Amino acid sequence: MNSLTDIWNSVLAVLGQNLTPTALNTWFSDARPISIVNNTFILYTSNPYKRGVILDRFGPTITAVLGDIFSAEFKMTILAGDEELNIFLSEDKPDDGLPEVAGYTFENFVVGPSNKYAHAAAMAVSEKPGKVYNPLFIYGNSGLGKTHLLLAIGQAIHTRDPGAKVVYLKGDDFTNDLISAIRGGTQEEFRQKYRNADLLLMDDIQFIAGKQQTQEEFFHTFNTLFESGKQIVVTSDRPPLEMNKLEDRIRTRLEWGLMADISSPDLETRMAITRNKASQLGMTLSNEVVEFIAENITSNIRQLEGVVKKLFAYRDLLGDTIDVNTVKRAIKDVIRTGPYVPTPEIIITETAKYFGITEEAIRGQSRQKNTATARQVAMYLCRNLTNMSLVDIGHQFDGRNHATVLASIRKIEDLMGTSSDMSSTIRDVTSNISSKN
Ligand code: ADP
Ligand code: MG
Repeated sequence: MNSLTDIWNSVLAVLGQNLTPTALNTWFSDARPISIVNNTFILYTSNPYKRGVILDRFGPTITAVLGDIFSAEFKMTILAGDEELNIFLSEDKPDDGLPEVAGYTFENFVVGPSNKYAHAAAMAVSEKPGKVYNPLFIYGNSGLGKTHLLLAIGQAIHTRDPGAKVVYLKGDDFTNDLISAIRGGTQEEFRQKYRNADLLLMDDIQFIAGKQQTQEEFFHTFNTLFESGKQIVVTSDRPPLEMNKLEDRIRTRLEWGLMADISSPDLETRMAITRNKASQLGMTLSNEVVEFIAENITSNIRQLEGVVKKLFAYRDLLGDTIDVNTVKRAIKDVIRTGPYVPTPEIIITETAKYFGITEEAIRGQSRQKNTATARQVAMYLCRNLTNMSLVDIGHQFDGRNHATVLASIRKIEDLMGTSSDMSSTIRDVTSNISSKN
């Protein structure tokens, strides 16, 4: 046992002894081992909230298991979110260059009719950055491999040219970064960071639509990079034409290069992906099992992966052989978990981010218009995305009473009926929240 993945799998197996598969999945489905540096284990998770829980509840167990494996004392650092991962990866580390970035490589990408065009374009771009398709625009529904391809391009270019400055970011990180640059008076550093990139990977650009200053900055970043022949790759959940609030000058630029869509995978591809994910976890599944999974989970690869991980957790829990009945249970678990239910913390964080204000402000007493609207939106989303009571919601917002909460929710419902701006705000924030899943 020596690969990072093996080590992490042993940790998960131990954690799984005291956790239900659902709990294990909740906290660790997107955790990935990144590296080990001087007896510090570096783990990735998608957001600071999960980091807190993992550190508090599972930190001691995790470091103890690592201690057992290596007969040495271990510490753990958790990177929360892509920005922190990106910063970690871009720091000069003397030993081993770019660590295994969560397995998002071309090698691990299963090609089928639904994604072969996007895959070929991504390969071409990684071989000749800035030369063939610029920008490359990859779009498709959630969970179909856009981020995977984007990071694979980054990885491939970095491997060939370790000196290349690869900048990966999500649309909403760009906004947040810009906001803090404006607050801290460091706009010049902000510009340098993005405009000096050799390769700009912008994930989920739909999040910048409708945000004026962000779009302005992106426009200039795009032009600077494009004019100096630097490669730009962008992903989105929809084509430029369908991003209503995107400025025209950005839309046209995104359409200058190549647009490649990814659609839902066919049965054969789903089977190949299921096998691939299982073998990454060191499991071999029978054909019957693979077929059963691929026939039942049809539109989202993230879900396919979820079922395979669940089987892995069961196997460690029960020591059973995996048959169709076990799979049925795993699928039921995934389906019973139903739609993702975010925590109020995540709803509040994402709403605050969207409105460019702090969490304290959104929870607090300020009556400033933008803040008050953000607060009403967050209350509305708590009501709609979770099964919290009005009283519980009030507790999240400085103890407001249920009547105030109800009035806020009504206000948003009214606005959604009369303003397309409010409807698209709700849609955008909701989609930001579910991307934290
Ligand atoms: P998106 O960014 O489109 O929402 P992701 O790139 O995050 O989707 O993919 C979701 C999960 O599915 C990831 O774990 C990714 O590795 C996996 N995945 C998607 N497409 C493929 C593929 N063709 N082969 C292997 N894994 C894939
Ligand atoms: Mg993605």
